[in-house]
Amino acid sequence: MQKLVEGVHRFHSETFRHQRELFARLAMGQSPQALFITCSDSRINPNLITHTDPGELFIVRNVGNIVPPYGACDGGEDAAIEYALEVLGIEDIIVCGHTGCGAMQGLLDPSRIDRLPSVRRWLQHASSTRRIVECLYTHLQGDDRLTLAAEENVLMQLENLRTHPAVAVGLAAGRLKLHAWMYKIATGQIFAYDAHRSQYVDLAEANTAPPSVPSLAERTAHAVKAPPAHA
Ligand SMILES: [Zn+2]
Repeated sequence: MQKLVEGVHRFHSETFRHQRELFARLAMGQSPQALFITCSDSRINPNLITHTDPGELFIVRNVGNIVPPYGACDGGEDAAIEYALEVLGIEDIIVCGHTGCGAMQGLLDPSRIDRLPSVRRWLQHASSTRRIVECLYTHLQGDDRLTLAAEENVLMQLENLRTHPAVAVGLAAGRLKLHAWMYKIATGQIFAYDAHRSQYVDLAEANTAPPSVPSLAERTAHAVKAPPAHA
């Protein structure tokens, strides 16, 4: 804890002082460029990996970067999504999963979360992910299976996002784009789902033009392919 307290002092005396203009601007309000939904995992820092400043990302974090279907629970996700789209006018939503995700491990092996009733309940929102992995990816084991689960989970959460009225309206009006990202912790790379190729590719090479939201049929077609390229 001491490190954090010292860090707060250092932030105020150094970082804040050197970026006074930025923080003065932020004090007037926010105009973030994207809604960034990712895992609570401490190894992910959305601003760091996207090289963005405070004020540029509206961030929702939870265990397993899960978006419950609209109205399915009383968590803050519904409110955050609604506020991001209706008030802040955000036009891009990124769901970002990651390699080595503990939530995905618990999802694939429920014995790991036997004594964690809240986690077990929460991960029920990703039960479709588990079913897809169990039914379509029986040939994968170990890290490949875990990475694949995280990839599929991001796509499933995009499906859940579409059940939110503000998202449905934004998509129908053609002003909203959904993005599926995977962060590879070991290399610092981001892979984006390219719906035209039905696979995750390096972000720099991804064609993220619509259709950015893959249908279930497109994904199951992908399911018969090889393990994730970047596992
Ligand atoms: Zn995680």
